[in-house]
Amino acid sequence: MTKAQNGAIDIGNGLGAFLQAEGSWGYSNAGLVWDSGEALLVDTLFDRELTARMLSEFRRLAPVDEIGTVVNTHANGDHCWGNGLLPNAEIVATKAAAEEMSQVSPAGMRAFLESFDADDPVARYLDAVFGSFDFDDNEVRLPTRCFDGSLTLDVGTKRVELHSVGPAHTLGDLIVYVRDSGTLFTGDIVFVDSHPIVWAGPVSGWIAACDEILSLDVDLIVPGHGPLAGRRHVEMMREYLCYVEREAFVRHEAGMTIREAARDISLSRFERWGEAERIVANVAAVYRELEGGDQTADYTGLTREMACLAEELGLYGLAALAANPKCGGPQA
Ligand SMILES: [Zn+2]
Repeated sequence: MTKAQNGAIDIGNGLGAFLQAEGSWGYSNAGLVWDSGEALLVDTLFDRELTARMLSEFRRLAPVDEIGTVVNTHANGDHCWGNGLLPNAEIVATKAAAEEMSQVSPAGMRAFLESFDADDPVARYLDAVFGSFDFDDNEVRLPTRCFDGSLTLDVGTKRVELHSVGPAHTLGDLIVYVRDSGTLFTGDIVFVDSHPIVWAGPVSGWIAACDEILSLDVDLIVPGHGPLAGRRHVEMMREYLCYVEREAFVRHEAGMTIREAARDISLSRFERWGEAERIVANVAAVYRELEGGDQTADYTGLTREMACLAEELGLYGLAALAANPKCGGPQA
């Protein structure tokens, strides 16, 4: 088995990728485009320390004095909460992502993590997946330039295309396409080796985003999480989303709750992927669409349901506690 690539690597043509082989919750990738002394960074990382490490590795890799532009692919903290380490850069995101970024902060995350009793399965789960990140003293820089649709930026003589493809994973996802090099940075539209999570949806929007990627001439994909990828990984992502959408629909018709459907849908085709508890959030996204009304995810409720399923499945070293009363409450 080959060792997973980790850290900053040169992917050719004046492009770099910073890969976090762990790939799980919060361990995201970033990218760098450089030319003629200019540089554009695709995403920062979940906290300041990780981002500082990424920046110093990129500075060793590329002949760049200063990164003039940061593109945030979406509003999840693992893609933008290191923005504060680039105080002079222009920060670009879609309008929808910028709006979403203004609503969640590292301090809010810290308060959320601390809001559960220590014996609550949610506290144990959150500690297992987020316990190694530092959410203290981090003032996040919000986007300084926002757009809808598409935007083309110049980095030296290189052209970098930003295409809005949300709402899908979040409300304001974008992809970063370096057409001349056939390279695409997808943010969390593509997860490799882990289950995707539909925070915003609609699922159909994410499937359309996969179709847009598949319509591009692309040789190399830097996914939001996981190792370097190609077209077949996008096809797998699309297949998963279509499968979950279909299977959740059938179970909604049959009157199953989200909790029941999430446990009834076979994930054997995707058993090598991590973070299987995300099926709860993905079923919930399909149910919201089918039921209409408020399309905002109940983050706290979903986190509790994912915590309980993770415990049941024994993920992250969490042992299932028999008849845990906090996992038997009202249906999500
Ligand atoms: Zn992410």
